[in-house]
Amino acid sequence: MSRPPSAPPLAEVALPLPLFRTFTYAAPEAPRHALVPGTRVVVPFHGRTEIGVCLGPGDPATLVGKGGRPVVPKAILDVPDAEPAVTPSLLAICRWIADYYVVPLGVALRCALPNALTGADAPTPTQRTHRVATLARHVESLLHRERIFARAPQQRALYELLEANGGRAPVGQLLEQLRFSPSVLKGLVARGFATVDDEVVARDPFAGRAAAAAARHRPTAEQQAAVEAMAGGGAGETFLLHGVTGSGKTLVYIELLRRVVEERGRSAIVLVPEIALTPQTVDRFRAAFGDRIAVLHSALSDGERYDAWLALRRGEKRIAVGARSAVFAPLEDLGAIVVDEEHESSYKQGESPRYHAREVAIVRARAAGAVVVLGSATPSLESWANATVGKYRLLTLPARVGGARLPRVDVVDLRVGQGRPRPGDAPRSPVDQVLSAPLQKALAETLEKEEQSILLLNRRGYSAFVQCGECGDVTTCPNCSISLTYHRAPERLVCHYCQHQEAPRDRCARCRGETLRQRGLGTQQVERILAERYPAARIARMDVDTTGAKWAHAEILDRVGRGEVDVLLGTQMIAKGLDFPNVTLVGVIDADTGINLPDFRASERCFQLLSQVAGRAGRGPKGGQVLIQTRLPTHHAVRCALAHDYHGFVREEATGRESPAYPPLVRLANVVVSGLREDATQALADRAAGWVRALMARRGAAGVTLIGPAPCPVERVKQRWRWHFLLKAEQPGELTRVARYFVQRFEVPKQHGLRVALDRDPVALL
Ligand code: ADP
Ligand code: ZN
Repeated sequence: MSRPPSAPPLAEVALPLPLFRTFTYAAPEAPRHALVPGTRVVVPFHGRTEIGVCLGPGDPATLVGKGGRPVVPKAILDVPDAEPAVTPSLLAICRWIADYYVVPLGVALRCALPNALTGADAPTPTQRTHRVATLARHVESLLHRERIFARAPQQRALYELLEANGGRAPVGQLLEQLRFSPSVLKGLVARGFATVDDEVVARDPFAGRAAAAAARHRPTAEQQAAVEAMAGGGAGETFLLHGVTGSGKTLVYIELLRRVVEERGRSAIVLVPEIALTPQTVDRFRAAFGDRIAVLHSALSDGERYDAWLALRRGEKRIAVGARSAVFAPLEDLGAIVVDEEHESSYKQGESPRYHAREVAIVRARAAGAVVVLGSATPSLESWANATVGKYRLLTLPARVGGARLPRVDVVDLRVGQGRPRPGDAPRSPVDQVLSAPLQKALAETLEKEEQSILLLNRRGYSAFVQCGECGDVTTCPNCSISLTYHRAPERLVCHYCQHQEAPRDRCARCRGETLRQRGLGTQQVERILAERYPAARIARMDVDTTGAKWAHAEILDRVGRGEVDVLLGTQMIAKGLDFPNVTLVGVIDADTGINLPDFRASERCFQLLSQVAGRAGRGPKGGQVLIQTRLPTHHAVRCALAHDYHGFVREEATGRESPAYPPLVRLANVVVSGLREDATQALADRAAGWVRALMARRGAAGVTLIGPAPCPVERVKQRWRWHFLLKAEQPGELTRVARYFVQRFEVPKQHGLRVALDRDPVALL
């Protein structure tokens, strides 16, 4: 590194701080390891230590303080790694993220490294144990349960939570979820319903979860053609694999990886939306590639994750499978990156850096000379537009494998005069209000035939909200402008934004009225209604409340796979990736949840969800049918899902995004201003928007327009008021310029907790 004689060599260091600059440090006199670009360094910073990344030689010209006085650089305290943690290719991708998403380089770098390497202490994965409760005695009959727990409702709640978690769950988590004292569990143990023991947190996270020895299928002609096209793709080429549900996309990915990894000796990354939700897909990769694969599961501890990271970094494993952050897997000589279900919004990180893993994958692959495969039955409008203009190469799997047909989809119209009663009809039972006659009939027939059903309701809890029958007031969260959801077992009002919980009230807080009504439907209530209507059916519920434990998702799905569940009920969690040939009925309890949200992607998300969940039916020789209950049967999201008409949906949806213009027609950045005081937040939003308008008037910003400011659709979250404005641009470059200038120069006052966040290519505007 260049330096004046006698001065210590200097290093440029990126730190994970919200500052758009790098720092110059002096190299230690005798560093433990070589100080090369990409190595982590421990440095002093304002009286504490920080972990940074060395970028290269430092510039002596930066060592000038106020008034031109020379500054003596602080020395790096330690160089802990023998090998640089950040490879040159990862450094390049982080530079791109910093630039495009307008975040400090150090923040992008921290996000690309495993937690074990970014904490202030060295990675020392140690063995941990925790206490686990196991259900010892099952009480199947609801009547029995009522009697046994008549005087111990807390024990019953604990029992049922344990049961919902597949019969086994960490004690700490159970008690935290229920907020009970440990004595409730003691009581349950004393009565012989549960046992408690210590369990070592497994070093091998997959111990005891053998991958099903799946039969190795021969690709069909269509699958083979797709594999050939991809394997022969040019360096950096992006493919959009549009394959209907059940068309065998997973096998295409696996065969591509055989070519890239086994034949050519290169490496590969497979991204899945949420790894806990897709155990079947992951198992197929494990069955095909055994321990050459590193699964970066969300349930791994930091130590386990670090082990997996190290195996990839050392080249011991050549394939990484994981969710969003697996796009940073430290693999060299990448040959392919697969992005399964590329339309999923979970690929976008919700906090800084707000990157989209699909976009990062494309940029990374281009630099590495790898191919990218974006797979989906319902591609995002952005990817579809890119395929249409020839930026991506479109490959299509138009039919299901093995001659299976797409299921028949029917709509049940819930409006008055259709499925609903006419005025004068006798009042209907709760069962009839939730399950229409056609759906009840289909469920009964499916049970009769000993086949399985999947029911979707995309709202957890018991009822959506509580409303006063006298003044109409809806109970809302004290921290957020969101109504509280009523939960049973345990009985609580819960905010799904900030997790605030409170006991249900017996009077209206506003008018003291005594008739508080529960409105709207949640999964807990549907579960109860199903149990009443079909007492013999074995029902499993899958939502955030039943899947807190480490392998809870996989355990519930394993039970479905073994035929121990007749009806699987759940939120959008059950819509993805599931492949059970004995599922012949899919019912959507309420297709309209979310369809009217004030967000330009609401229809697209609804269409995707309906198409995906419909795709779970009829994957075996028995065929299948889908029933969608809705009050909006003519909405294009519902209509096109009914007809399996992706192209029709895209045509109508794209027209709807022309005026006002939304992606994919324009590029978008959402600027959210938030703070603890409403007036200060609004004032700052006004000032920020004015600042950007003045900037654009002064400098000219061709094709960039500013819309707003306005309150966010959800005005308050976690005690913070929220305002926003949008930047729309025809060209991404212009948007980058304006955004960077704004984020780096606009000063946010240090009061009232004021903050400004820029979200480039937002997936939601709520
Ligand atoms: P998708 O992801 O496109 O919805 P999957 O990859 O889940 O579809 O495949 C659907 C089913 O078809 C799976 O059970 C899979 O094992 C099976 N399958 C895929 N390809 C073949 C093939 N070539 N021959 C026989 N079965 C296949
Ligand atoms: Zn809240």
